[in-house]
Amino acid sequence: MKYIVGVDIGATNLRIALATNKGELIHKTTIPTPRKGDELTIAETIRDLINKMIHDKGIEIEELKGIGIGSIGPLDIRKGKVINAPNIPIHSFELLRPLKDWFKIPIYVVNDCVAAVWGELIFGAGRSYQNIVYVTLSTGIGAGAIVNGNLLLGKDGNAHEVGHIVIDYESKLRCRCGGYGHWEAYASGANIQKFINYLLSKWSLTTQERNSELYKAYEERKVTTELLFSLGKRKDPLALRIIDELGRINACGIASVINVYDPELLTLGGSISLNNPNLVLNPILKYIDMYVINRKPLIKLTPLGHDVVLLGAIALVVSTPHTLVNIQA
Ligand SMILES: [Zn+2]
Repeated sequence: MKYIVGVDIGATNLRIALATNKGELIHKTTIPTPRKGDELTIAETIRDLINKMIHDKGIEIEELKGIGIGSIGPLDIRKGKVINAPNIPIHSFELLRPLKDWFKIPIYVVNDCVAAVWGELIFGAGRSYQNIVYVTLSTGIGAGAIVNGNLLLGKDGNAHEVGHIVIDYESKLRCRCGGYGHWEAYASGANIQKFINYLLSKWSLTTQERNSELYKAYEERKVTTELLFSLGKRKDPLALRIIDELGRINACGIASVINVYDPELLTLGGSISLNNPNLVLNPILKYIDMYVINRKPLIKLTPLGHDVVLLGAIALVVSTPHTLVNIQA
């Protein structure tokens, strides 16, 4: 039982890694997450990738200690399956049951952010803390929380859907879940573009802002999240104003999470944060005091970068959280 497999199922990519019992990565593979198929397609893809990976490395299945999976949600954690995920074309799919039938080794399935916060505790910035929250700003927004050393799961494994915190109950901005005014409807990668259109339809702009490259792109309907941040890095005045407003929305959401979980450490990950560290973190730090009631925690980017979910999935097997042992094995 020398090796562990970690799996990160995201909206865009499916990543698999082989690690030692101590969590040292030996091999990583990334493929696009299957967009077509039935509820077994994703599990079958994972099975085939694992079989190929261990075959290539000359490893037998008997040498695997277990498989940890951090997946896009929402979950039915007892059945280890994903149900009605809004950000992925195969909305519902099985993981725990088929993989257990095929491999006959311990398998753990949690939400990706829940895996990530466990990875932060075991391998990352959280090693000396008992109260940690991880927040991802990516295609969607989510969080994982450890409170007094306990990994929070919830009745169905969904104690982390912070992206659906209502920021404005009168909002006309619609979230992919169907609700209105959710944090994700403003600041997730899937929705920033709509938020920019909304801001520019109601803001009065200075001449300098009207002459900016971002406004030109807006008029040509070419605004994307990537363009916003790349123009922000080039100090485009309108891009910086929007990024500041986005930071205020993120500060509202993150402050709500801090007020609920009372962490000592809050780490940020996800492609939007990791690709634009200063433009995301600085506005959050500027506005957070307006909204936090609890004593403010240390807020920083995860040192585990894009591997945080993968390492978290591996950490589930290295040191299985006691809240999970009674639910899955
Ligand atoms: Zn929502």
